[in-house]
Amino acid sequence: MSDARSILNLGIDVGGTKTYGVVLDGADKVVARGSSPTQKSAAGVQASVTGVARALAVELGIDITGFASVGIGIPGMVDTCTGEVVSAVNLGFDRMPLAAAMAPVFQVPVCIDNDMKVALRGAGLLLGTDSLVYLNIGTGVASAAMERGRVVRGTENIAGEIGHIIYEPGGPLCLCGQQGCLEAVLGGRYLVPRLAEAGVEWAGLGAMPKHPEYARCVGALAWAISVLYLMYDPSVIALGGGVVGAASWLPEALSAELTTRAARAMFPDFKLIESRLRFPSTTDRAEVGAIGAALVGRDSADSTKG
Ligand SMILES: [Zn+2]
Repeated sequence: MSDARSILNLGIDVGGTKTYGVVLDGADKVVARGSSPTQKSAAGVQASVTGVARALAVELGIDITGFASVGIGIPGMVDTCTGEVVSAVNLGFDRMPLAAAMAPVFQVPVCIDNDMKVALRGAGLLLGTDSLVYLNIGTGVASAAMERGRVVRGTENIAGEIGHIIYEPGGPLCLCGQQGCLEAVLGGRYLVPRLAEAGVEWAGLGAMPKHPEYARCVGALAWAISVLYLMYDPSVIALGGGVVGAASWLPEALSAELTTRAARAMFPDFKLIESRLRFPSTTDRAEVGAIGAALVGRDSADSTKG
């Protein structure tokens, strides 16, 4: 069992619509991947995780108890110490001791973490850095930061909720109750209907640089990236999420916007920002969360070993 290829670390990213799993071998290579729709309830999430895990075990010709470690990413507030999901609005439940509920299935300790924190770990591995920020623009907007391998969590593990910083004072109402949050401008659940009302599609907005929504959206994103740069000075700022993935024009537009802004700034060195931006590929975006969950599970298992 000392062969790195025989050590199998399972990572599962429970998304609002899809539960995605990967298995990493001891050399951090993905040796199996698979997904299924997420069943939204406390029991449903456990069934979704078990279902994906079982399918991956079958593919690898092992029993579901054959994984060396298990990590799970959850969209919501997670207590990583107790393994409890405190609140997962998008999954339709709260207060569930998920790690304890799953441990008997796998017969190894299960580690859970917030979905952004696991995506951050995955992006760090894929991009080869331990000092980075991951900015996710999907249904909502959130970020997570790692400095020299240490994930920035804050007191309640909510550090990085950049989506609820007010960007347009008095602007559109956000689900959190504030007005003009960054998320209320860029989050898919607000952006897509607003553009539809204006007769534009997000994917096609890049061809309309004179449209007011072009400057508004690119400006908001450039602002968010600049804030993250000033807050953390990371070696890499990685962008992910469905809204980013749906706009092939975005990297070029952002690069131009950041270059223009840098030309006006003297200090700090805004010229660095553009060179630190990374756009993970479609495949990488789909599995950063699951890969990161596998890493979180592996580290947790390592730290509890005698
Ligand atoms: Zn908000």
